[in-house]
Amino acid sequence: MTMKIQEFEHVNYLWDDHVASQLDAVERLRYRSNILGADQRITNTGGGNTSSKIKMTDPLSGEEVDVLWVKGSGGDLRTSTRANFASLYMDKFLSLESIYNKAEVKGVKTEIEDSMVDMYRHTTFGLNPAASSIDTPLHGLIPFRHVDHTHPISAIAIAASKDQEQLTQKVFGGEVGWVPWQRPGFDLGLVIRDALKKNPKLKGLIMGQHGLINWADDDKACYELTLSLIESAALYIKQHDKGKKTFGGQKYKSLNEEERNKLLVQLLPKLRGMVSQKNRFIGTVHVTDKVLQFVNSVDAERLAEIGTSCPDHFLRTKIKPLYVDWNPQKDSAESLPEKLEAGLAEYRSDYASYYEACKHPNSPARRDPNPTVILIPGLGLIAWGKNKSESRVTAEFYSLAIEVMRSSEAISEYQGLPRQEAFDIEYWLLEEAKLKRMPPEKEFARNVVVVIGAGSGIGKATAHRIAKEGAHVVCADLSEDAAQATAKELVEMYGVGIGVAGTGISGCGSAIALAVDITKREGIRAMLENVVLAYGGVDNIIITVGIFVPPDKQGYIPDDKWALTYAVNATGPFFVADEAKKIWQAQGLKTSLIIATSANAAVAKQGSFAYDTSKAAANHLVRELAIELSPLVRVNGLAPATVVEGSSMFPRDRVISSLTKYNISFDESESTESLRDKLAEFYAQRTLTKSPVTLADQAEMAYLLSSSKFSKTTGQIITVDGGLHEAFLR
Ligand SMILES: [Zn+2]
Repeated sequence: MTMKIQEFEHVNYLWDDHVASQLDAVERLRYRSNILGADQRITNTGGGNTSSKIKMTDPLSGEEVDVLWVKGSGGDLRTSTRANFASLYMDKFLSLESIYNKAEVKGVKTEIEDSMVDMYRHTTFGLNPAASSIDTPLHGLIPFRHVDHTHPISAIAIAASKDQEQLTQKVFGGEVGWVPWQRPGFDLGLVIRDALKKNPKLKGLIMGQHGLINWADDDKACYELTLSLIESAALYIKQHDKGKKTFGGQKYKSLNEEERNKLLVQLLPKLRGMVSQKNRFIGTVHVTDKVLQFVNSVDAERLAEIGTSCPDHFLRTKIKPLYVDWNPQKDSAESLPEKLEAGLAEYRSDYASYYEACKHPNSPARRDPNPTVILIPGLGLIAWGKNKSESRVTAEFYSLAIEVMRSSEAISEYQGLPRQEAFDIEYWLLEEAKLKRMPPEKEFARNVVVVIGAGSGIGKATAHRIAKEGAHVVCADLSEDAAQATAKELVEMYGVGIGVAGTGISGCGSAIALAVDITKREGIRAMLENVVLAYGGVDNIIITVGIFVPPDKQGYIPDDKWALTYAVNATGPFFVADEAKKIWQAQGLKTSLIIATSANAAVAKQGSFAYDTSKAAANHLVRELAIELSPLVRVNGLAPATVVEGSSMFPRDRVISSLTKYNISFDESESTESLRDKLAEFYAQRTLTKSPVTLADQAEMAYLLSSSKFSKTTGQIITVDGGLHEAFLR
């Protein structure tokens, strides 16, 4: 049933003979996987797996052997590299069946089935460290050279329909068989092999409540078969599309973008606080026409209750989402949080009952009972995860589930995974073991940290320092370009993560750049609102901006410069705290604020009194805010001194004027860095520790003060100045 390329309407045909012809057999598998994964309609992020059986020379015997290359545990088809594929000696892999058969109790969910996963390691070819996944037998036991297992929307729609077996026959006319839902593992591999033995003409199978698997002896043919099967299912669904009657028709209307964002900005911090009582979550807002069609529909409540069907979706989206029946046309904005609060209480108690009803004697302890997907008519979908990447994947998965439900309800009646089966996936001991193997979460995981001044100097160094601790970093700066540069460095270093979802700014990665002028309250508010739309809330704020206006030769500072100095150094941090306060109070989560002041705040000297007095005001602002914002927010000051390295406050002319002032010899032709080093060394000699003070020293303290390591300290100014006895606070 090979189709001509131009006939594909519901999938992207991406195979390029020229590209494929230049690749070795393993790279061709990687290539096929990447182009399959690139289309969301073919498979979801992290979902599905592909394999090729490849003849290779055995490094031990020098003989040609058959090697099964199959996508390993973790990883993702779209982004897979060669390193994501496990390699197993085919003969050794096949010999495992006799071990399986020797077990007294065997079959789905038996002890032997789970323990087979560890056996795959013994069959590794070529010292490949990639771990085999539980889906390995789905590939190894099929006697064809190439196998694609995917989670296509159109195939899952059939697999999640009430009359899935008949539909499979109707759509594929006997070329594709059907096997009922069964948790993946060795036994499912045997079931699939048996289906093929019984009917050798089969080109693939619809796996009940799960997805599609198909095979061929040629890799390009396998790829084209995958596409044509998905296309056939999609065409059948299109012919039965219910149009305006989809999901029982529309019950509510969507809010326009402006109304929606206004409401989201108010709602998200509150909602984040509600779901984060046990673990802090990062949000993703996903609003597309398809999502809105679902949440506004008559059937949304009924379908949401059934939950997602594909086990892959379900692990992230949980057993079901929380749907809140709020009327965007009639109900007030104030009634929405109340409805959410009540909905959440019911959801948590449902979750507890589900756990109690389905648990086994050896089940892992109950996990966080909060929903990860929240559906609100008029507004859209809000997903929650431990980090941005996870919440984006969750939003992606539920939006795919909506497509599955739409399709399934068009051709039949949608049905979810039976509760016990869902539980046996969610609390699978193999999944629990995977969770336990994960490294402990970092200090700033699950945190959104805004660094104001992140474009240069201490702010930039701090942004890098906290990103290392797992923070989602908002790089805010007067210069948007400078903020962008820092955010770009962070994203390049830590990656954008996985998942294809999030609308507007909410589709961001773990760092974003925003422009802000700290002297303008409205601008600060707008910046914080964008942070809320991007991540669902705001945790720590670190303000490192400051301005030093040098006096003219007569020691005079014009009035407007005096005012500017105060606006940036003292009033600005107050505006930030005052605007963030509303968000922090709505969240109700403990957090911290750091304001960089200066050692100068405590030292009176000639020529810098606008700067020094403004910093003294900032020092006292720290103490006032510590009282004002307690008990939710710890407020501390960081007082650096004479950080010359990379500081925007030490441009070349200021360095030269300082060197001249202190009679330090230098040459006009020297580089700015070399001049700065000279000045830094001079300053170092004035300190008690005799060491130059670096940006890294400041960033370390900004990080420590914000972190839980200083959880009992508030209202304090901590100096990082190498030890200046004149600046001792008393
Ligand atoms: Zn699967």
